[in-house]
Amino acid sequence: MSPFDPRFRRTSAERSTVALYRIAQAIEALFRKRGKAARLTPTQIDTLLFLKYARPGVRTVGGLAQRLGVTYATASVVADGLERRGLVARRVAGPDLRVVGLALTEQGAARVTELEGALDGLLAAIGELTANEQAYFDRILQVLVRSLQRAGAVQVYEMCWGCQFFRPNAHPDDPVAPHHCAFVDAPLADGDTTFECPDFVPVAMVSG
Ligand code: SF4
Repeated sequence: MSPFDPRFRRTSAERSTVALYRIAQAIEALFRKRGKAARLTPTQIDTLLFLKYARPGVRTVGGLAQRLGVTYATASVVADGLERRGLVARRVAGPDLRVVGLALTEQGAARVTELEGALDGLLAAIGELTANEQAYFDRILQVLVRSLQRAGAVQVYEMCWGCQFFRPNAHPDDPVAPHHCAFVDAPLADGDTTFECPDFVPVAMVSG
């Protein structure tokens, strides 16, 4: 019995599984369409998004390899292709000259902004739900994502503002780092709160 077979798709769980599969297909198609217009593969799109939102310390060829789940050599080839297109630039990432940093060029940053609108349609569809439905939907999806994360099927990289460890304006007298991360127990600069973090745990998992 498979949820793909409509004769056996009888329970809410089976129907929801197939609905999520269709949504995943739709999201992939939305990105593919934008990528095709920009002559970018899905991997190249993932790379550009990574270089915009990953924490600066991991914007390296090694960090990209880890994010894409590929070898260092493959990540380097992806970076090469984007570099040839003038969207990405390589640079020395720190005191260790062997660590190759990657950065978006001005053209690359503009291209990411164009690509990010791919989810606007989905956002609008969810926006048509009532506020209560949206909150419920959010909680359910967070539970599913965490379950998939525990199973090793997804890696979640999110940002501070929806994280249970985030304490906004915990240090109001500190103009450099007014926020606080309770996970690492350290102050956070405002600009650092919009970078992706692998330690993110959503507020929705613990509130009510
Ligand atoms: S754990 Fe990560 S996402 Fe959460 S507040 Fe700390 S730095 Fe931000």
